[in-house]
Amino acid sequence: MLMLRMTAAFAVTRAAYVPRAVAMARAVRRLAAATGGDGLPNDDAGWMTRLSPLQFAVLRNKATEPGGYSESTEGELEFELSKALGTKYPKQGTFECAGCGAPLYTATSKFDSGCGWPAFYEGLPGAIKELPDEDGRRVEIVCGACNGHLGHVFKSEGFPTPTDERHCVNGVSLKYAPRS
Ligand SMILES: [Zn+2]
Repeated sequence: MLMLRMTAAFAVTRAAYVPRAVAMARAVRRLAAATGGDGLPNDDAGWMTRLSPLQFAVLRNKATEPGGYSESTEGELEFELSKALGTKYPKQGTFECAGCGAPLYTATSKFDSGCGWPAFYEGLPGAIKELPDEDGRRVEIVCGACNGHLGHVFKSEGFPTPTDERHCVNGVSLKYAPRS
């Protein structure tokens, strides 16, 4: 009789435990599926939880922030750089993807193009993908890690930089990391 009661108690405990373990395993699998297994969202709903509405519009739907927006808007990249450092052109650090955190540009590759958007003359090796626009007129640049839209790259415009390339990047697509 005692044996029977113990068995019954064990059965109850086990019955309560197993569904929890199964539910947890399912939740982990769901999370892995929702993030594509690499920690990044794989659908719009997931990205919306990580990005501001403007970041989502730019990074995921290829919108363009207004010219001058980054340098003239409190809280935005170039405005905050100027406020903190007295310049939009830090001497050290890295600019990272605002979507996934991948390092994209060294601070020293940022230059004054006068175009109203942050500009860089080269990306870190392998960090950025170039995709010709469908109309064949411009070349889009996206983050090599999460495919987030950065802007466009223009070549041979005559800028006195080592590459004469202008990576014209939306400020909202970037974060500044002082140490790199
Ligand atoms: Zn990214």
